[in-house]
Amino acid sequence: MRRLELESHLLSAFENDEFLLHYQPIVCLQSGQITGFEALVRWYRPEEGFVSPGQFIQVTEETGLIVHLGQWIFRAACAQLKAWEQQFPDHPLTMSINLSRRQFHQTDLVEQFGDTLRELELGGNRVQLEITESMIMRDVDGATELMHRLKGLGLKLAIDDFGTGYSSLSYLHRFPTDTLKIDQSFVGRMDQSGDEQEIVHTIIALGQKLRMDLVAEGIETQTQLNRLRAMGCQRGQGYLFAKPLGRDGATALLANPWPRASFGAPEEQPKAAKKA
Ligand code: C2E
Ligand code: MG
Ligand code: MG
Repeated sequence: MRRLELESHLLSAFENDEFLLHYQPIVCLQSGQITGFEALVRWYRPEEGFVSPGQFIQVTEETGLIVHLGQWIFRAACAQLKAWEQQFPDHPLTMSINLSRRQFHQTDLVEQFGDTLRELELGGNRVQLEITESMIMRDVDGATELMHRLKGLGLKLAIDDFGTGYSSLSYLHRFPTDTLKIDQSFVGRMDQSGDEQEIVHTIIALGQKLRMDLVAEGIETQTQLNRLRAMGCQRGQGYLFAKPLGRDGATALLANPWPRASFGAPEEQPKAAKKA
């Protein structure tokens, strides 16, 4: 009954404009500068408040609603990026957008994304699509072809939650992906065990060897930040910096970024820089 109720509410939610996006900053771990945002969908139910995507994305996949919702998410996130580019022309930003399994098999996905980018007059190279290992590994050849077509629009590609799914290392270098996102479960356990630190270290080394950017997810403590920095991870996101924010909160953060001094522990300065 609950499931049926959820399905019917989801259908009307789309008609009633109850979906919105929150944006979590992705920051440069060395400088603290915001390099972009990840768009995260939220469902605001008037009688219940915010519902997290974990509770409804799968149902939208099963009912097929994700096709419309996914297209709406892509357009809304791209439009927000365009608005920020106009408001903060000196601050280059990227927008990361999650793709769901069903979208990945949508035949007109590339055309739809291409149309949206053209309509918004937005360069695809500032938009990164996040896909998971399991989405790719189901049909490696089909997925690789689709990834190349998405790259043809100039879009960047990231592997989300890396390390939690199943992917073959022998394939990894053949995928036209730009970024590895280290799953938050590894980052979260870094404080507890040396083994977890070694896993994170190994993922970073792998990413570097494959010449991919690295983004650590779920950074919550200063210790995690210091360790990730020391291991050479370039970027990250997590509650230590900011929770996902509404449009106005994210805009306010871009207008008034946190002061450099409050960002993490001061780095050991190289001797030459100290003298200068
Ligand atoms: P994800 O793409 O890996 O997104 C990161 C999740 O980690 C987000 O949860 C975010 O709020 C949460 N997070 C960020 N920093 C921290 C932290 O420091 N600690 C902890 N404990 N959590 C943190 P959220 O928004 O609930 O999204 C969950 C998942 O739902 C996402 O995982 C993604 O797989 C999916 N999702 C979210 N938005 C979308 C969307 O627009 N489209 C699709 N297809 N899936 C989405
Ligand atoms: Mg993601
Ligand atoms: Mg993730």
